[in-house]
Amino acid sequence: MTSCIFCNIVEGSIPSEKIYEDEHVVAFMDIMPVTKGHVLIIPKTHRENLYEMTSEEAAQVFSVAPKIANALKEEFAPAGLNVLQNNGAPAGQAVFHFHMHLIPRYDRSDGFQPQWDPQTDTFTVERIKEIAVGIRKKLL
Ligand code: 5GP
Ligand code: ZN
Repeated sequence: MTSCIFCNIVEGSIPSEKIYEDEHVVAFMDIMPVTKGHVLIIPKTHRENLYEMTSEEAAQVFSVAPKIANALKEEFAPAGLNVLQNNGAPAGQAVFHFHMHLIPRYDRSDGFQPQWDPQTDTFTVERIKEIAVGIRKKLL
């Protein structure tokens, strides 16, 4: 047993409904699903969040997403699907082992209601340009 719930799920020391497993990745049913078929995909190695992931680990997680999304599509015929990945408590992260949510969508008033409030007065075209300059410098 470790103090990380998802590491315990990987090890099998706490129960979960696993739907997929390979050398690097596990996918299992979210215990408090917001819609039918809500799945989490995680790396087997403990990584707290996206910042800690290597590109290879991120690729391993994402590489199974289309396969699982298509299984959800075939099984439940949802009208859509959201991919969600939270980093840090203010962003909604509650379990600090990287995970990607796959949330099948049935209609706009199902259990998942993301709020999207564009700040177009603050972030003018000029301001976006300045922000992009700062980010590009960090990517050099
Ligand atoms: P977060 O808010 O960190 O992005 O999402 C954490 C997710 O993990 C939540 O949707 C929550 O329902 C799920 N979760 C928390 N504890 C457990 C657990 O013990 N088992 C499973 N299967 N899911 C869990
Ligand atoms: Zn962990």
